[in-house]
This record gives sequence, C-alpha cells and structure tokens, in this order.
Amino acid sequence: GGRLEGRIALVTGAGSGIGRATALLFARHGAKLVLTDLKDADATADLIGESAYWLQADAGSEADLQGAISAAVQHFGGLDIVFANAGISGGLASIFDQDAADWAEILRVNLIGPAMAIRYAAPLIKARGGGSIICTASVAGLRSGAGSGAYSASKAGVISLVKTAAQQLSGSNVRVNAICPGLIETGMTEFIYERARAKGREEQLGHLNPLKRGGTPEEIASAALFLASDESSYVNGQALVVDGGLSSS
Ligand code: NAD
Repeated sequence: GGRLEGRIALVTGAGSGIGRATALLFARHGAKLVLTDLKDADATADLIGESAYWLQADAGSEADLQGAISAAVQHFGGLDIVFANAGISGGLASIFDQDAADWAEILRVNLIGPAMAIRYAAPLIKARGGGSIICTASVAGLRSGAGSGAYSASKAGVISLVKTAAQQLSGSNVRVNAICPGLIETGMTEFIYERARAKGREEQLGHLNPLKRGGTPEEIASAALFLASDESSYVNGQALVVDGGLSSS
C-alpha cells in the first residue's frame, strides 16, 4: 500500500545509512523524491528509478537547500515532506578535543541546515495545504555520552528547533517533529562497530539497551514514514525516541 502516494519528499543525507533506507521506504510507499548528499545520492536514486531525482548538495548550505527545494518544485511540482537527516558526528571527541572551527562545522551541518530547510520548505508545504517536516536528532541530544560535545549540543538544538518551528507554523498544517535514534549501524557508527568486532565484543554494543542490540537504518526509516504520513496527523513538535530503550534508564 502507498502511505505516501502522490507526495513529494526531500531527503538530505540520502546517500547512506538512515537517509538511504528512508528514501527507499518512502519510494515504496509511493512518494516522489528529491535526494541530496555530498556523495552517493545518485546511487540511492539508481536503486529507486524515475520517481527519484538527485542532487549533490551540502545540507549545511542555505543556497544548496534552496536549490534542492526548487528542484522539487521544478521536477515534481511542489513539496509535501522534508526529511532533514544529513549529519556529521565528530566521532566521540570530548569538548576538550574540539575547537571553535570543529563546533562551527558540526552546528552548521546538523542544526543550521535543518533550520534553513524548515525556513525555505515550510511556505511551499503550507501552500499545498500542509505536510510534514522531520529532522534527525539523536539520543545524544537528550543525554550525555553518545557522541562528541558539539554533536550532542547540535542534536539538543534540533529538538528545540522542531518545537519552535511547530509553534511558529501555527495554522499552516505543517507538522514538525524530530527522531532521536539510539545506536544504529551506519557509516557514522562503523568505527564503533569495527572497534568492538576487533575486540570480539560486538554483543556488548547493544548491552546498554533492553533489546540488547543496535538498531538498523530500516528501523529509523519506519519511524520517519510514520511521521511523514497522515498516520501521525496529530503528532507535532515532538522528539520521537527510537533507541531500543537506551534512554529509558
Ligand atoms: P551515515 O554517515 O551513514 O549517513 C550520513 C550521510 O550524510 C552521509 O551519506 C554523508 O555523506 C551525508 N552528509 C554528511 N555531511 C553532509 C553535508 N554537509 N551535506 C550533505 N550530506 C552530508 O550516517 P547515519 O547514521 O545514516 O546518519 C544520518 C543521521 O542520523 C545523522 O543526522 C546522524 O547524526 C543521525 N544519527 C545517527 C545515529 C547512529 O547511530 N547512526 C544515531 C543518532 C542519530
């Protein structure tokens, strides 16, 4: 069944991990897609076919975001859904290991990018009668110890951003929510998995949550589908935690 039939969606960070899995799921549910990434958005588009249009674009660049949003209008006639998902982590660096330039780059991509995506996409979504904007935050934005200092602050900022945007879009029928993934096996966390595997301790990665395993990109994609579709029509300004129970302790 097509839960997104006739909808047009922009996905950033669509070349890998959570963004790619979500693009594939949205396409299976009938959406037309504009896919952006610094690399490999074309490979994801190839997996989907003609309902996907791709662009190489920097998700932290205001101009590139405007270009991607314009592409949705030009190629598909409008925009209904944005998944502002691209992000960078800075590894597990502490605040003592990150200088101002490190902070600026992480905040630019992870927080200012989603803010600019909302800024330019929301009026177009509103003009079509409403829709859904979803930003990828993280459990790192809720608790310490799950990412670099700048990363955690950027993701806490994203949780704040979606609440503010939901309020400021009052009356527009544009919903804005965040997803807070726990540990998900993607390009971003490959080094953590590799290190654990090298030590023969892969099973310990999941021991921090009650399900005792890491999550898959597809498990975040299904949360994104829920928030993108009308099934979540009364969910607004929320941070949906998808972490196997990691943050419930
Ligand atoms: P990933 O590295 O597999 O995918 C991230 C994608 O974003 C990559 O394709 C990368 O090229 C792209 N990207 C990075 N900087 C970009 C930029 N400036 N412009 C455009 N594209 C850019 O990692 P992922 O885990 O799929 O990450 C997706 C989102 O999920 C990120 O926001 C990340 O912070 C968040 N997240 C991931 C985890 C996890 O455990 N993997 C946990 C919580 C949150």
